[in-house]
Amino acid sequence: MANDLIHVTGLAKTFESGDQTVSVLSGLDLSLAGGQSLALTGPSGSGKSTLLNILCGLERPDSGHLHVAGQTLAGEGAPVNKALEQAWAGLRRQCIGVVFQDANLMPALSLLDNIRLRASLAGNAGDSGQQWLSKLGIGELGERYPDQVSGGQRQRAALAMVFAVRPALILADEPTGSLDRVTAEAVADELFGLQARQGCGLILATHDPELAARCQFQLDLGHRGGA
Ligand code: ADP
Ligand code: MG
Repeated sequence: MANDLIHVTGLAKTFESGDQTVSVLSGLDLSLAGGQSLALTGPSGSGKSTLLNILCGLERPDSGHLHVAGQTLAGEGAPVNKALEQAWAGLRRQCIGVVFQDANLMPALSLLDNIRLRASLAGNAGDSGQQWLSKLGIGELGERYPDQVSGGQRQRAALAMVFAVRPALILADEPTGSLDRVTAEAVADELFGLQARQGCGLILATHDPELAARCQFQLDLGHRGGA
């Protein structure tokens, strides 16, 4: 569909494991519009991370069509080789915010400088970064380095960094998986609150049924039944 942020049809991915070929995704169809949220669920090994990696260009599908933010990235009409790499790099810089389970902060930069760098790469150089740290409840920690704060604070800083990009799409792989229950809920509140305010799309992979239930849509990769 023309207005979809993500439109995927017939996506397939296999991996070679020793002398075996393992089919991780096959015949996967999926659409997401701006402002919508989707939870990827399913047991460990069902392909949640693989799908997120394909949706941000870190893995290539074997076959299928993939459109992200109006660009064709796999299937007929997709660029190849260097042009494909450049298309993905541009999307990751300006359009897609990725949150991993282990906060993807640069260890040599303070929290604030991590956010400023990410914002300026996305073309938001005027962004002070401070407002995002404050919104996420860690406004006083900007001068600290990632190894000088707790895991929950690092995860909030990683979210601040993603929001400073003002992405059209957020991909989050077990974003609260390494946090205790109370911190996980607080981080999830921020994630959903900011997603609603910015109106961006969100796809998150999670083992946590409560977190999955907070998304508008759920896709169980363990029991997909062809969808
Ligand atoms: P999930 O995130 O749902 O736990 P993954 O997407 O990480 O699942 O993995 C799906 C399957 O693909 C697993 O069987 C995993 O071992 C396999 N896999 C993932 N990445 C690779 C890779 N780079 N090479 C070989 N096998 C892989
Ligand atoms: Mg995973």
